Amino acid sequence: MDLVELAKSLIRFRTEIPPGNEEGCARHIHDHLADLHIQGAELRLDRFEAGRANLVARFGPREPGLLLGGHIDVVPAGDQSAWSVPPFEGVEKGGRLYGRGAADMKTGLAAILKAIEATSKRKMRRGLLFVATSGEEVGFEGLKALYARELIPEGAARLGVMGEPTSLRPVRAHKGLADFRITVRGRSGHASKPELGVNAIEKCATIVEAVSAWSRGLSKAPDRDLGSTIATSTVVRGGTKSNVIPDSCELIVDSRWVPKHGTAFVEKGLNSTIAALKRKDPSLDARVELMYDSPALKLPRSHPAVRLAESLSGLESEVAPYGTEAALYAEHGIPSLVLGPGSLRQAHIVDEFVDLAEATKALSIYSRMIESVCVA
Ligand SMILES: [Zn+2]
Repeated sequence: MDLVELAKSLIRFRTEIPPGNEEGCARHIHDHLADLHIQGAELRLDRFEAGRANLVARFGPREPGLLLGGHIDVVPAGDQSAWSVPPFEGVEKGGRLYGRGAADMKTGLAAILKAIEATSKRKMRRGLLFVATSGEEVGFEGLKALYARELIPEGAARLGVMGEPTSLRPVRAHKGLADFRITVRGRSGHASKPELGVNAIEKCATIVEAVSAWSRGLSKAPDRDLGSTIATSTVVRGGTKSNVIPDSCELIVDSRWVPKHGTAFVEKGLNSTIAALKRKDPSLDARVELMYDSPALKLPRSHPAVRLAESLSGLESEVAPYGTEAALYAEHGIPSLVLGPGSLRQAHIVDEFVDLAEATKALSIYSRMIESVCVA
């Protein structure tokens, strides 16, 4: 199978999440690698939930070398009638391959698989690790499951590359993310006598204002690469009826933090913002809870992984506004970056496509990366 056929074969698996249905595609990758009969290859299909699986493959010696990684889940195709091609067929047209996942990131995975095949006869000095995960689009579920059960050892590679769509430009840094729920409690009463109740929505509004002011204040101490930590109110839910003073209100705050700050910094900031309001208004009752967080990524430009990626791609590295699995690998001792075919602008949209010339270039970059880290 050539690169394009392999990419098409991956697109044909409907790995949309939700619902999360990646096992067939993971098994297909497993069987594809098994059919290559690479000497000493260790393949593991990791079924971590019904219908959900990751694939972990090791080649060459135990000495940590290169990690090539990516995810097999895709975001839903949405209304298929809005597409000009069927989203799960892999349609080639005018030097492009169309389909859900063409850019994010099944063509990247296909290029990695072809690079593994192209270098499979070379004598390796260091190991090559390939990981294809499920549930990346919903908080790195598959990769978290692999690490939770120690199926990938700490420091399993000297450097890692995720084949996510970056138009082949290395991405070496991005912010971390933390989402919080703030629950505000009040006391209900009749709307004609507001002074007898405690209006949770009004209390919540003071918190929204205060969080916004706190976030603006953080812009005085930016990170040189990534800018400032920010916290933004994104969801408010409260109230039951037009004539009832609301006794509860829920606020979701989304924060994007720079590496010197982190989730704990934001949590502390939210708590002290509320404590300051409480000193002025003792009836304020609000509780902050962390819902979800994911790490930041920051490799210095001088890091050998960045230097290698820049020299192989011929493009200067940059920073990105989105989060990736690279940060989670970095937390587990594998300094990682992101570099893959396809444009981020193509990810998650109708008529998603990848430029096939870029896909071929990606295959060449990944092959040379394996040569330089594992073979040379
Ligand atoms: Zn992706």
